[in-house]
Amino acid sequence: MSGKKTTVEVHKFGGASLGDGTAFRHAVTIVQGRRAAPVVVVSAPAGITDVLLGLATRAVAGDRSERPALERDVEALRKRYHAVATEAVGGRAGKLLGKLGKPGKAAGGVGAEIDRSIDELAALLSSLAALKELTPRTRDFVVSRGERLSAQIFAAALAAAGTPSAYVDATEVVFTDGPFGGASPNLALTDLAARKKLQPLIAAGKVPVVPGFIGSAKIEDENGAALEERAVATLGRGGSDLTASLLGRALAATEVSLWKDVSGLMTADPRVVPDARVIPQLHLREAAELAYYGAKVLHPRALIPVAGRPVPVFVRPFADPGAAGTEISARRTLDKYPVKALSAAGGQALITVGGNGMLGVPGIAARTFESLHREGISVSLISQSSSEQSICFSVPSSAGKRARTRLLEEFHDEIGRKDIDGIDVQDGLATVAVVGLGMAGHLGIASRVFGALADAGINIVAIAQGSSELNISFVVAAEDAAPAQRAVHAAFQLAKIGGGAATRAEHRDVVLLGFGQIGRALAGIMAKEAKKTVGGKRNGTSKLRLTAAIDTSGFVFEPGGLTARAVGELAESKQAGHSLAETRAGRRANPADALTVVSQHALANPILVDLTAADTTALVLKAVDAGMDVVLANKRPLAGPRKLSAELWQKVADANQRMLTEATVGAGLPIFDTYRKLVESGDRVLKIEGCLSGTLGFVMTEVERGRPFSEAVRKAMEKGYTEPDPRDDLSGADVGRKGLILGRLLGFAGEPEDVVVESLVPAALRGITRDAFVARLAEMNAEWARRAAAAKAKGSTLRYVASVSKDKIAVGLQTVSRSSPFFGLKGTDNQVAFTTARYRKNPLVITGPGAGPAVTAAGVLNDLLRLT
Ligand code: ADP
Ligand code: ASP
Ligand code: MG
Repeated sequence: MSGKKTTVEVHKFGGASLGDGTAFRHAVTIVQGRRAAPVVVVSAPAGITDVLLGLATRAVAGDRSERPALERDVEALRKRYHAVATEAVGGRAGKLLGKLGKPGKAAGGVGAEIDRSIDELAALLSSLAALKELTPRTRDFVVSRGERLSAQIFAAALAAAGTPSAYVDATEVVFTDGPFGGASPNLALTDLAARKKLQPLIAAGKVPVVPGFIGSAKIEDENGAALEERAVATLGRGGSDLTASLLGRALAATEVSLWKDVSGLMTADPRVVPDARVIPQLHLREAAELAYYGAKVLHPRALIPVAGRPVPVFVRPFADPGAAGTEISARRTLDKYPVKALSAAGGQALITVGGNGMLGVPGIAARTFESLHREGISVSLISQSSSEQSICFSVPSSAGKRARTRLLEEFHDEIGRKDIDGIDVQDGLATVAVVGLGMAGHLGIASRVFGALADAGINIVAIAQGSSELNISFVVAAEDAAPAQRAVHAAFQLAKIGGGAATRAEHRDVVLLGFGQIGRALAGIMAKEAKKTVGGKRNGTSKLRLTAAIDTSGFVFEPGGLTARAVGELAESKQAGHSLAETRAGRRANPADALTVVSQHALANPILVDLTAADTTALVLKAVDAGMDVVLANKRPLAGPRKLSAELWQKVADANQRMLTEATVGAGLPIFDTYRKLVESGDRVLKIEGCLSGTLGFVMTEVERGRPFSEAVRKAMEKGYTEPDPRDDLSGADVGRKGLILGRLLGFAGEPEDVVVESLVPAALRGITRDAFVARLAEMNAEWARRAAAAKAKGSTLRYVASVSKDKIAVGLQTVSRSSPFFGLKGTDNQVAFTTARYRKNPLVITGPGAGPAVTAAGVLNDLLRLT
């Protein structure tokens, strides 16, 4: 063996991620994708620990009549493990076998292990039912099989996928000092044992797989003689995290990754605070504080083993292995956020020791905590009023009564003398901790916290500020815990963590959906405009930062903003026909997943710009949910079923966000702007008419000048005037959508089918591919030449006109005479005429370029600037 050290990584897969056999296989691919030598720690599949605990409790408590139900549940558990194993090890075939009721076969030896373990469980439950006693030790033994079987399945799945593996029982590598049910690891012993056992396996090229959550405890008789060296003991709920960090420490791992069902460690529990965000990096002390105060994402003691060691811990999303997740390490970043995250623990009781005479009695606090400590009750929050007339602290509800009894004994004399009035217990409470290292350097954090709670009408029962100034915690009624967290989360703008200042970010992050011609034009103008100054001052464009671009293949995302050079490279590569996923920085994903990844990062006041021509309504809704404002050039989200577009607008309004749509009609022309101004000044718009298609305008004027129809269309395509499929323009569908958008502005209540559209695409050319259609364009030349000549003979010309009112929308080909404003339109120019209560005789007319990437991009940019 060479003297070269292998770098080791520890990967822990949590129960929430390991729901079924497919999940195990996914975990296997994650392990196989790592360059360093992995050591794997696994939890029991989701829910199994609870099932096992429930079985044990029921067995002890229940009478004979419950036996059949218990047995049925044991068999259900057996079946579930077999199903997981057959699929994890045998793949699709295994899944089928599992379904056919042939468990165990495909999983080979693991199947036998499962049967052995479940048989043992059944036997254990029978004896529990007879004994009517469940000791912590037996309970640990019962639940330990959850993790053990999980690890055995994982090891087999790795082997089946071609990666040599070795199951290592946790009692051989994790040593504890007890007690059962919540054992404390013995770091020194674990370091030695884990190295001794695991290093040779790693050196032999095997991936060790260790069950999390458990370790060994020594059982001694009253004289200290060992009765059992390696009894299995659990490390407390969620203890697999701790197993992982213990092994990471022992092996001096380059990282410990905790793979979970969330995108990382977030500013708050996402189930409680919907706009919680992933924190890119967190100091060990901050994360430890959050875990200690109840953040369910980490075991409370998981970070102790790595304190002071160069072993970063990552919380990573199981569903998105490429994502950054959260780094927990000794670095300090994001210091401008005085508060980084919140956590809460329910099920708390508050105990108050109070009385007028306490002032003169020394050592009351010390005696209080000492006696609770001896009773084995842990105290989480302590606050003492400065008058020293009361001490109050929180303990788990389950320990409330016991604590009171103990303290009544302790202070029996003082109570008799009336120095202490009594011991008061208030139950049904929750503690909320507000955590951030930067709090120490900022004034007024506490007042902001309590101001936010006061504004939300939440009553605070007690307050404590840790002397470390790393955390402020407070106690509220259990039912106030969620609104309290949302209020504080909002007060510190934690939904924006990672970008911009805590108060007001100076820029806005822009996410492009679609990176076609318009996207590239927009990126180009943004880069150029941002550099310009007027009177020494930058213009608004400098406040826009392009952070992501998404297309159908994938996305490119740079949380710090894409540089002009990076944008240039992307544009070139796209132009050359490569998708975003194929570019250097590109990642593969469907647009919804891409948006998830992007929105989980901490963006500063993000704006989604939809430049696609696809049906993106669901994506846009998702962006709004993620707190983004929206700029649309894409018409579809506004021109689909009425219910959908109404829902979209409602959502935007409810979220107090904005959606601007100027570029959906008339490219950069100020159509919506004009409409708004008319309405705001008290006018009433009766009718909007216009030539709304740059493409059709261009084609009509070309045909009018005698050019063959096919050539006119091809040229429009070349110049980027048309939609990706030119039939979207020629069929009138695109104008129809614009008409519908304008109609809805006027209160049109109909559906897309209610728009009367005249198509210019002959029926025979509708069902074919785009390329076939383009190839057959010339078939229409003769008919168009005839139409143009007929119009000309009458002194008129052809225009494709939209006519929109509250009651009717019609778009189609018209022969317009010289007296119409539309007669003189040239090329791609659009023209919109507003007939209003004030402009009834002479409509208010807006004319200008209405198609092409540059003018559309300019329209989008205008909207973006309105949002800065
Ligand atoms: P594991 O599968 O590794 O055991 P857990 O279920 O213990 O994972 O932890 C993940 C869960 O923790 C998430 O589903 C989430 O609901 C909850 N959670 C609570 N607080 C946070 C937080 N601040 N950040 C992320 N997740 C959190
Ligand atoms: N399976 C155990 C629990 O549910 C340990 C863990 O998941 O980390 O608490
Ligand atoms: Mg957990």
